Amino acid sequence: MLIDTHTHLYSSKFDEDRETVISDCIANGVTKLLLPNIDSNSTEAMLALADKYPSVCYPMMGIHPCSINNDTIEKELAHTKEYLFSNRKFIAVGEIGIDLHWDKTTLDAQIFAFKQQIEWAKELNLPIAIHAREAFNEIFEVLDELNDDNLNGVLHCFTGNVEQAKHIINYGGFKLGIGGVVTFKNGGLDKVLNEIELKHLILETDAPYLAPTPHRGKRNSSQYIPLIGDKLADIYGCTLPDIAKVTTKNAIELFGL
Ligand SMILES: [Zn+2]
Repeated sequence: MLIDTHTHLYSSKFDEDRETVISDCIANGVTKLLLPNIDSNSTEAMLALADKYPSVCYPMMGIHPCSINNDTIEKELAHTKEYLFSNRKFIAVGEIGIDLHWDKTTLDAQIFAFKQQIEWAKELNLPIAIHAREAFNEIFEVLDELNDDNLNGVLHCFTGNVEQAKHIINYGGFKLGIGGVVTFKNGGLDKVLNEIELKHLILETDAPYLAPTPHRGKRNSSQYIPLIGDKLADIYGCTLPDIAKVTTKNAIELFGL
C-alpha cells in the first residue's frame, strides 16, 4: 500500500477522467490520496471530491503562497479560518509557505499568512504541508521562531540540499515529501538522499505537476507513485515493498490516517 501525500486531483486537468485515475491508483496500490488546497477558488471542488471518495481522498485546508497578496490576504485568511474551525474534518493545514519564484513583492503578506496558518495548525493540533520555492531561508526564519514540540508536518516537494534537509529534520516533527524530481536525470536529489535516512521521507506526486520519468513534461498523476518508490528503492538498496512499508507508516502517523 502506497500513499500520495500531495495531489491536486480536484484540478480541472482531471475533469475528463478523474474516476479512471482513481481506479488506476487503487489498481497500482496507491490507496490514499491527500489533497492540499490552493485557495478559496479550489475549496469547493476539493471538498466535492473528498465527499465522493471519503475512504480514498482526504482534504487539507490552507492557502498556497502564490494566492497571497495585499488584495487577497484578508479574504483568503477569513475563508480558510472559517473552514478550519468548522465541523468539517481536515487532515492538515496546507498547502502553506513562501514562494519567491514568481513574485517577491508579496513577501511580507506571504510571511504573515504563513505564520497565521501555523498558529491555527497548532490550535487544532494539525500537521502543516509546506510549499517552499526559492525561499528556504525565509521559511526557516519563520519555523525557527514558531516550531515547538507539538508542531509537525512535511516540507512538500523537497528539492533542497543536504544542509537544508537536515535543518528541516532537526525541527523534530517534519518529514521530507519526495516526488517526481527524484527520478529526473541530473536532478541531484539522489545524492542528497544518500545522506538522509529513509525514515524521514514520505511520497507525493504534486499532480498534475512534475511527472516522474518517463512521463516528464506530461500530466502527473498519483498512479505514478510506484515510479518514485522504485527510484528510492534504487537509492536505498532495497525493494519497492520496503519503501512502501516505511513511507506509508510515516504518512499514516504524520496525518493521523
Ligand atoms: Zn501542491
